[in-house]
Amino acid sequence: MTMNLPSVWLQDLIWEDVEIYLKESNIILCPVGSTEQHGPAGPLGLDAWVAIALAEDAAKAAGVLCAPPLWFGDSSHHMGFSGTISLRTETLMAVIQDMGRSLAKHGFRKILFINGHKAANLPALQSATKNLREFEMPGVFFAIIDPMKMGKKIANEIKEAPEHHCGELEIAQCWYKFPQLIRAERLTTGQVAFAETLSPWFQEDLFSATHEVIDIPWTSAEQRTFAPTGSFTPSAKASPEKGRRYHEYMVEQIVAFINWLRTYEGPIGKGL
Ligand SMILES: [Zn+2]
Repeated sequence: MTMNLPSVWLQDLIWEDVEIYLKESNIILCPVGSTEQHGPAGPLGLDAWVAIALAEDAAKAAGVLCAPPLWFGDSSHHMGFSGTISLRTETLMAVIQDMGRSLAKHGFRKILFINGHKAANLPALQSATKNLREFEMPGVFFAIIDPMKMGKKIANEIKEAPEHHCGELEIAQCWYKFPQLIRAERLTTGQVAFAETLSPWFQEDLFSATHEVIDIPWTSAEQRTFAPTGSFTPSAKASPEKGRRYHEYMVEQIVAFINWLRTYEGPIGKGL
């Protein structure tokens, strides 16, 4: 660990460690996940676990700190399945904004959210940070790092099936980092009949769209009916090796971004 701190995690340090860190750096990674059903093979915490793994591995490689993970996300559409805990979109926005305010108060100026929950957390993360910058803290830089966007290239090289909720890649990434959490004998082969249930315009693959897309919100009761196992796309072709390639590529991307960010002075080059 850089600067001889005993951990990259804020919650493992004492306050004086953080004060020392802030003399050298103003960057922090904030993993955000969800607690929501992940089908018959994946744990409820999958999105949080992968965000934690990305944050920890990137933080160790780049020598930066991580904030404690946010284990909850916007998961209302999964409430038909036991164990799911959902924050309302506005609650998630409020939590993200209070995290930003607190970290900025101490001197963090480059706050990077790593989102393991993909599309469903993005509206809250984007609106929360955009509004904080515009109306309260234009001098604080925020970024939202999401596998759906940052892992697109490698995802399309690795995966053999469309990737949506509980798909091959998110199961593979969790399998690689936390093998004890995957029920390998329960990987899925089926796929939701997206065109019939959510229209031929539904984007069945989060990493690519081969046709025009229209978003249709659905309820948790509807989801329980059209996706009875909880899984949207097949995970049968997942493997720890695929997870390793996917994970390591994204860690490299995050580290490259952090290194670029160290000297970045904002969109108009006058400092943040
Ligand atoms: Zn997920």
